Amino acid sequence: MITKNSIQHLLNHEGLRITVADVTDAAKEAGNIHNLSLFSEIIIGKILAATAALATDFKNHEGISLKWVTHSPLGIIRADAYEGHYVRGFIENPEAEAFDKYDPAEEKRLVCENAQLFVTRYSLLKQPYISTVNASCNSISECLTSYLNESDQTDSYLDIQFQLGEDGKLERVACFLAQMTPQANKKLYDDLFILNSKGWKIFGDKEDASSLSFLIDKEGFLPIGESVIKFQCTCNLDHIRNSLLLLPETERNELLEDEVTEVCCHYCGKKYNIPRSTLVKWFNDEKGEGIQ
Ligand SMILES: [Zn+2]
Repeated sequence: MITKNSIQHLLNHEGLRITVADVTDAAKEAGNIHNLSLFSEIIIGKILAATAALATDFKNHEGISLKWVTHSPLGIIRADAYEGHYVRGFIENPEAEAFDKYDPAEEKRLVCENAQLFVTRYSLLKQPYISTVNASCNSISECLTSYLNESDQTDSYLDIQFQLGEDGKLERVACFLAQMTPQANKKLYDDLFILNSKGWKIFGDKEDASSLSFLIDKEGFLPIGESVIKFQCTCNLDHIRNSLLLLPETERNELLEDEVTEVCCHYCGKKYNIPRSTLVKWFNDEKGEGIQ
């Protein structure tokens, strides 16, 4: 079985690479913070799982920021994976289309049919770089596969799956990514991932010949890295200050009319109460820096 709330990186002798990211509790936490419907919780769970799986260069602490413009009432969806084991994310307007059940046709209509993806990769070795793809797909998995194949130009197979419990609530959500290293056996890759239309069950038992656990065993995949994965935000007062300093003069003045300004982090829901005196100081300090 694939471990819950973990990211695993595996490699076999044929040069094939697998990354499995299970973000179950992180998805539930995003659901709690934002009071999401089951549908939205599954959508953010799928996107968080895939974002975590895209950060394959874990040795260089690769981070991924995904901005997913849906062009639907849901608005923009954002997800970040960083330091190899933290994720965070939110849907801009989840209440615009809230369903208490999952329907793949709604995933297609609201998230995938007219999507624009901005993927930023950053690591210890490289300058951050952004790739953009326009995707018109049936599912989140398909959109991200098209990003990997078009923009990243790597042969990649990506699949995201979830499971509901008997209570109808989200029980598991995970993403599975298979890629070839430069020395890989292309025929084996094609046999396992391209020509095999049935896919692999991420949550299946090792005894089940169509499960990912069976595949890992049979093809001799060995772990090269594993971490616990959890929801964690990077917001702090400094980040809030930097974002307020981006505001134009008129909006700044509006904020200064209030005794206290409340700023809420979109990712984690944390509220920051900033007194007017602090705002005045921030805005004045910035002017001072400008003169020097
Ligand atoms: Zn936050």
